[in-house]
Order: sequence, then structure tokens, then C-alpha cells
Amino acid sequence: MQEEPSGEVGGQGRRALGFQRHFPKRTSQHALIVHLMKLPTIGRKSAERLAFHLLKAPAEQAEELSAAILRMKERLGYCSRCFNVTEEDPCPVCRDPNRDTKLLCVVEEAMDALAIESAGGYRGRYHVLGGCLSPLKGVTASDLHFEELERRVAEEEIEEIILATNPTVDGEATALYITQQCQSREVRLSRIAMGLPMGGSLEYADEQTLQQALLGRTRIVDR
Ligand SMILES: [Zn+2]
Repeated sequence: MQEEPSGEVGGQGRRALGFQRHFPKRTSQHALIVHLMKLPTIGRKSAERLAFHLLKAPAEQAEELSAAILRMKERLGYCSRCFNVTEEDPCPVCRDPNRDTKLLCVVEEAMDALAIESAGGYRGRYHVLGGCLSPLKGVTASDLHFEELERRVAEEEIEEIILATNPTVDGEATALYITQQCQSREVRLSRIAMGLPMGGSLEYADEQTLQQALLGRTRIVDR
């Protein structure tokens, strides 16, 4: 969804001044809008729209929403083994005896594990790094769960690691870091295939995606 960038409240722009005129500081509505604007993809307009929606909604709806947020904050934590978000530690995936314990899928964020899980078909376990290496954002190896990954590979006798970091410069650098980290270990490494989306068209694909699609081709008939 396209959303306007969240401008700073109280800034010098005309729009910011307009915002203050409509919602003067120290009012409850201003405070709510400021908090909503801190959420990802929510700009000023969306924050105002949501605040007005909540204003018109029955009181129970606002109460249920705030209670759901608090309940989630109280109950959700991180799995001490895979660092996925969970209400129980270890998480249900780590505890599931029917999962392939020798197969590990490495992802940047818990949301990525959720996406793979929702897609279905994957029967191994996960390891959530907590982000990706990013010199620009100041994220270094010590900020991510690399050491824990190395320990798991040894202790859980992992046979294959699927590198499912994002197809971005930082995601690729993170995948390369893990490849180097595991060089001396008896573990197979694979990278998720990148290329064209299902239902997509070659005509509209960008050059990099097409290059990746060709590099990641799979053989249909082997002679
Ligand atoms: Zn877990």
C-alpha cells in the first residue's frame, strides 16, 4: 500500500501547521494520532482516518483493541532456540516431533518465518536472525543471532541450511556471511530460488529479476 511518509509533527511545513491547527497539542486526539504515526506504513492522513474511525466506533471496540495490544505485549516473547515470536518457549515449531530436525531455514525476521509457514510445504525448523547485516544502519554481526546459529548447527547436527534472507544487497551479504561462517562445517547450504512471481510476465520483469531467474533455473530433463 502506498502511504505518504510520516512527517514530523510540529514541523515547519504547511501541512504540519495545518495538522496542529486541526488537532491542537495536548488534546487526546492529537496524542493518539502521534502514536499511530509511529506505526509502519501509517502516515499522517491514515493516522487521522484511524483516529476518526475509533472516535466514531463503539467504546467496546476501542477497549478491545487496547486490551488486545496489551495482551499481546504481555504474552508474546521469543523462542530461546529459534528466536521466533511465541507464547510458549520453546515455540510449537521447535517442539513439533514431526518436523525435520536436520533442516533449518534461516530468515531475517519472524514475519518471514510466518510467511513461509503460511505458504505451507516446509517441514523443517527455523532460525530467525533478528534482521540483516547493514553497514548503513549500523547493524553488525554481533547484533544478530549468528553465534546461536553456529551452536545449533553443531548441537542439533543440522544437515541442510536454507538461506531465506531477502533478495536485497543486505540480505545477500547476510547469506554470504553465513556461507563463510559454515565453511568448515559438514552442512549443506542452499539459497531460496529468486526470480519471477507466479502469474507474472517476462515482459514486465526488471533486468535483475530476470538475471536471477535464469541463474536459478531448474533442470526439467537431464541427459
Ligand atoms: Zn522455536
